[in-house]
Amino acid sequence: MLCEHEVKIISLVNPQKKPCSYLCYMRKFEDTYRHKGLRKKLVELIRSKGIKDEKILDALNKIPRHFFLDSAFDEVAYEDRAFPIAEKQTISQPYTVAYQTQLLEVKPFEKILEIGTGSAYQASVLAELGAQVFTIERQKKLYENNKSFQFLKKYTNIKFFYGDGYEGLPTYAPFDKILVTAAAPEIPSKLVQQLKPGGMMVIPEGTGEVQLMKRVTKLESGEIKIEIFDRFSFVPMLEGKKD
Ligand code: SAH
Repeated sequence: MLCEHEVKIISLVNPQKKPCSYLCYMRKFEDTYRHKGLRKKLVELIRSKGIKDEKILDALNKIPRHFFLDSAFDEVAYEDRAFPIAEKQTISQPYTVAYQTQLLEVKPFEKILEIGTGSAYQASVLAELGAQVFTIERQKKLYENNKSFQFLKKYTNIKFFYGDGYEGLPTYAPFDKILVTAAAPEIPSKLVQQLKPGGMMVIPEGTGEVQLMKRVTKLESGEIKIEIFDRFSFVPMLEGKKD
């Protein structure tokens, strides 16, 4: 069922330019040749920035990113930039999504926990790669938006949770992989505990404007290996749930 604020617009002209004020944004659900063309160009740009995994590039090519944004962003949805979504949060830059996904070395049927569902774009990329995705969002409105977002129904391999990502999901643990899509001041120990031996977590760590992308591997021996990659800028990972 469509959320009452979600308007399905087939014509290219949106007579109601204003985004809905509360639960959902208005979105366009038409994937035109223009959208497809812009998406191909975006994929080539991301390839040129160093993402070599064809499966990830294919996934980006399949997912209509403009569906995840307010229709006011229709023209720019395929620029390699982060954009605002509801509740002062962001949809990550496509390059960042591809970069984190590549570091995670996703394989089909792996159990992956994502912290920070946001727009659910990153969760959709993981689902396209055949993973079993468990994604947590601390903001109730964002969680509810995704519950009523029709496009996501095709991904029966994504489970949505409303909760505090710092707690992880002990009931469903352990996970093969964990992907954190908000900036954590330090690596959350409860998440490390919920990794399988041999499992990996990709997480932007830092408190300032810019964070370092880290990959934490739980070795079979139980030891933790930390690798450090490039700098990125994420919204903060906050404690607790928000109504
Ligand atoms: N993966 C998202 C990026 C969203 S931005 C996408 O593809 O669009 C980060 C998200 O993390 C925000 O929606 C924010 O509300 C959420 N977040 C921040 N702290 C959190 C926490 N402790 N637990 C769960 N989600 C959190």
